[in-house]
Amino acid sequence: MMTAEEYEESLRRLNLNVYMFGERVENVVDNPIIRPSMKAVAATYELANRPEHEDIMTATSHVTGKKINRFTHIHQSIDDLVKKSKMGRLLGAYTGCCFQRCVGMDTLNALSMTTYDIDAKYGTDYNKRFIEYLKYVQEKDLVCCGAMTDPKGDRSLRPHQQKDPDLYVRVVEERADGIVVRGAKVHQTGAVNSHEIIVMPTITMREEDKDYAISFALPSDAKGITYVIGRQSCDTRKLEQGDIDRGNIYFGGLEALVIFDDVFVPWERVFMYKEYDFSGQLVEQFASYHRQSYSCKVGLGDVLIGAAQTIAEYNGVDRASHIKDKIIEMNHLNETLYCGAIACASEGHREPSGTYYVNTLLANVHKQNVTRFPFEIARLAQDIAGGLMVTLPSERDFRSSDIGKWMDKYYKGRSDIPTEYRIRMLRLIENMTLGTAAVGYLTESMHGAGSPQAQRIMISRQVNLKQKQRLAKKLCGIVEE
Ligand code: SF4
Ligand code: FE
Repeated sequence: MMTAEEYEESLRRLNLNVYMFGERVENVVDNPIIRPSMKAVAATYELANRPEHEDIMTATSHVTGKKINRFTHIHQSIDDLVKKSKMGRLLGAYTGCCFQRCVGMDTLNALSMTTYDIDAKYGTDYNKRFIEYLKYVQEKDLVCCGAMTDPKGDRSLRPHQQKDPDLYVRVVEERADGIVVRGAKVHQTGAVNSHEIIVMPTITMREEDKDYAISFALPSDAKGITYVIGRQSCDTRKLEQGDIDRGNIYFGGLEALVIFDDVFVPWERVFMYKEYDFSGQLVEQFASYHRQSYSCKVGLGDVLIGAAQTIAEYNGVDRASHIKDKIIEMNHLNETLYCGAIACASEGHREPSGTYYVNTLLANVHKQNVTRFPFEIARLAQDIAGGLMVTLPSERDFRSSDIGKWMDKYYKGRSDIPTEYRIRMLRLIENMTLGTAAVGYLTESMHGAGSPQAQRIMISRQVNLKQKQRLAKKLCGIVEE
């Protein structure tokens, strides 16, 4: 397993083609806007090397028998699934943002099942290729970016019907030694902090779309891949002097557009090639695992609840009964989310490949809750924080030799608490509910791992309505022929 420092050094050896604000980023690792997101991924290495987190953060590889980072593990039991849910909460609480590495873990696990099932039907050898690739990922302790979401163009049209055929990733050339792919993946979490990019289809493909029914892995600095960093609200505060206005002074999430401009993929890194009848399964399995991964938001909720309680104390209102009740409500919502994350893991099962898979109904119910509860928790945090959170002057005003004394005097809460503590706490709440980390806590809760409607479709497919009707009819004496 790598250490956090070794991880950072390994990224320095990559030659990524990254753009931000219209310019190429020469030094990705030290860029002040990107660096907090790298540090958040580095936390997945840091905690894995701490003895107190070993049980949650590490696992034993089923292919090599070696100790590995859980983020590269293929779940071998219910216990593994439960530990995965706990790991999300642990890291979310530690970083207060999206730590990005779950997408790759979920992709590896979904591919471990789908490649096996394709082989069973078609006699292909995708699973063998995949296991070789997995060994490489586990041995080197790599970060994989799982890339699913295509630009999609006109949503009313299938991939092959689009005016521009590149709006879904597709194969454009087949060679003896591999394939050439073209297209893009949008809002790719952690892409520029990854060693590998693993591409999957984004929807169920039909025969006419079989050129789009492909899955493959590429080194993140493969020739022809370009990254364009997504903007976040308040992102340029990271360029300012001082750290208070950033809120979270250590960590942050980051997304990018990933463009594949005729990139060559050798056959040994291709895990699905035109088996369109398995594209839906791969999407569904990845999505269900990733919906479980949203246990991360419980950890972010822990941070936000802690911040709300603290600012209430700093303001001298923590004893008010309505404040106490709001904190209880925030905890109730947050722990309800945790229930879902644990339940979908505990109710998991073994698939033919040997991989343990979450209960898809419960994983989708969990993620549906995640599209709602963090918004209510954020609303309550803003309620408790007060309007000051958004009208505060900048850190530079607090540091000003002219007016700093007024800042300190008029922004003071309780007399025994330094004004700076109060400001820092308000900035953290701002960061998580309106700033860069609101991408992770709110918008990602809404749209990450599929938008709310995607879960509702899965819920409607998974529940046994007929059985529920039979129960009701029996109890009131309806006997149908
Ligand atoms: Fe992981 Fe959560 Fe970030 Fe998704 S949003 S990558 S589950 S931390
Ligand atoms: Fe996500």
